[in-house]
Amino acid sequence: MPDESLPKEKQDLENKVVLVTGASRGIGKAMALAFAERNCRLVMMARNSERLAQAVEDVRDSGASVLAIALDVCHEEEIGKALERVRKEFGAVEILINNAGVYKTSPVAGHPTETWQEIINTNLTSAFFFCREVVQPMIDSGWGRVINISSISGKHAEIHGAAYSASKFGMIGLTQSLALETASKGVTVNALCPGWVDTDMARSQLSDPEWCKLNSIDIQESLEIARLSIPQMRFVQPEEVAALALYLCSPAAQGITGQAINICGGMCLS
Ligand code: NAP
Repeated sequence: MPDESLPKEKQDLENKVVLVTGASRGIGKAMALAFAERNCRLVMMARNSERLAQAVEDVRDSGASVLAIALDVCHEEEIGKALERVRKEFGAVEILINNAGVYKTSPVAGHPTETWQEIINTNLTSAFFFCREVVQPMIDSGWGRVINISSISGKHAEIHGAAYSASKFGMIGLTQSLALETASKGVTVNALCPGWVDTDMARSQLSDPEWCKLNSIDIQESLEIARLSIPQMRFVQPEEVAALALYLCSPAAQGITGQAINICGGMCLS
């Protein structure tokens, strides 16, 4: 039941400022489209400016106001400048979706340091940078939603995915601690844990010869093997992950905080 005691502007998503990292494709783009349909104002971020511009065009088709900022979420200074611009042009961020991510595998023996750092910085440290800047204004206003995109790899590790799993386990730790900090302040913080989602990331992983070799999977059949490894025997669609994020921002989800919610077709039951 929505909390009717909240003023209407705190129940409704209309005009809310929503920041999505990694918004140029896949899950992030689906998030941007879903919140645009709810008349939110979108801040969309990604590295590749051409791909971002294309995604922004699609989101603007829905009539939404969009601020596009091309940046690398690993760079703390770029984030500071970008958020300054957001504050000037749109005001405080009310919904933060830390979604930007990369997937790379390697056995720990011989794991290159730079690959470890790239994965941890992109998938985890960037979320800390954004939370640190954005959460205090949410607390001051008495309302805010943070959604961190983790993975079922943040609940059980997979072979040769040490950096990725460490980053996604870390995302759940960040989520839980920040949720406790903000629980009595009108701010909820949750993690989403997708399994296989039908995006570029999943497809390129499943067609990576090295990954297939490491996992003893025939590259010609890897998509089908992955599909059959999901109890529902289907890839989750990015729009389903976006719908869950929308729900977490609705008044009905006010009591949900500090959770790491699986959306994986039954792959992970814990
Ligand atoms: P995707 O299709 O590869 O999209 C990744 C997005 O992140 C792109 O917009 C990309 O922008 C952006 N990005 C990557 N590195 C960045 C950086 N350093 N700075 C700024 N933007 C950066 O991936 P996806 O499948 O939608 O994944 C989204 C999130 O879901 C990730 O955190 C991923 O780990 C998680 N996830 C995905 C799956 C899955 O099966 N797909 C499963 C579990 C969890 P550019 O194009 O500009 O690089």
